[in-house]
Amino acid sequence: MTTFEPPLPRDNEPTPLPGESALDIALRPKALAEFVGQPLVVDNLRIAMTAAKLRGEPVDHVLLSGLPGLGKTTLAELVAREMGAGFRATSAPALERPADLAGILTGLSAGDVLFVDEIHRLPSTVEEYLYGAMEDFVIDIVLDQGARARTVRLDVKPFTLVGATTREGLLAPPFRARFGLIERLEPYAIEDLARIAIRSCGLLKIDVDAAAAAAVASRSRGTPRVVNRFLRRLRDLAQVEGRTRIDRELVDRGLTRLGVDDRGLLAVDRLILSTLARAGGEPVGVKTLAITLGEDERTVEDVYEPHLIREGFILKTPRGRILTPDGEKAAGVPARPDDRLPFGAG
Ligand code: ADP
Repeated sequence: MTTFEPPLPRDNEPTPLPGESALDIALRPKALAEFVGQPLVVDNLRIAMTAAKLRGEPVDHVLLSGLPGLGKTTLAELVAREMGAGFRATSAPALERPADLAGILTGLSAGDVLFVDEIHRLPSTVEEYLYGAMEDFVIDIVLDQGARARTVRLDVKPFTLVGATTREGLLAPPFRARFGLIERLEPYAIEDLARIAIRSCGLLKIDVDAAAAAAVASRSRGTPRVVNRFLRRLRDLAQVEGRTRIDRELVDRGLTRLGVDDRGLLAVDRLILSTLARAGGEPVGVKTLAITLGEDERTVEDVYEPHLIREGFILKTPRGRILTPDGEKAAGVPARPDDRLPFGAG
């Protein structure tokens, strides 16, 4: 329940989310057929959308989980496009009070897709308020205050909620249970990232050869957003050098300038590895890592660590993070303390 506030202005255009540029939007696939990879997720969405169209209903609510930059926002927008529906995007930190959500919900048209990014960060009061809207398409709002307060039940037009989360495990089970489709996006195979690179170069109006696309792909941490970020920088470099084509040599030189090594590790990754190496095998907490990097803990956990864990360089233990033998090699330091102090060695 909430105090009534006038609905927010309606907005059918894709809303740039924090940290997103116009170019990010320009590179987004405009049809599901252009969305590369994630075949199981795409298939499940297609089936749900086809069935919903046959029934003349909006698609069931969808929860998309996965690391940042894997295409959750893109897919949400594509659901709206394929359904011929309006798209409204917001993110959980913008929904502090139930009234913030009520304003958006009452402004929706029938069939609209409401995209809520970082949905695991919704305050529980707002989350509970969403339950009625998701299940029965109604919201209860409180008019007036004190003795004159009264509750009014308002209908919300049938809509599809698409929630995106990097931390599916943080969603309350009753909330999670209200999503009809729960889909997880995995990091992309190198071949898929190379296809995305070739497609993006077409949109950026620069030529790229297959070897160069593969080289960008192999250093992009399984993430389309990283592919696109690298390509924009490589295009800059090509243009200032008067070239019209991104080739393998330019990729190697350009990515080295950006501090990206052969395995796709960034300077910040190397700092994490060297911090853990300096701890000499003692686990290091995420707080300490975050302070060392000057980043917040969430960024360390959601953006940097997953790649290092996937590459087998670090392990998360209950007491903190430690380096694996491969991580020690990547950090360029001796392995375990006993390797440095070979007591008992013959
Ligand atoms: P998320 O919401 O998961 O953080 P986005 O949907 O914003 O990720 O995707 C980041 C960028 O990567 C988008 O601008 C889009 O151009 C590109 N992208 C993501 N997934 C794909 C894909 N499967 N095919 C082509 N481009 C993609």
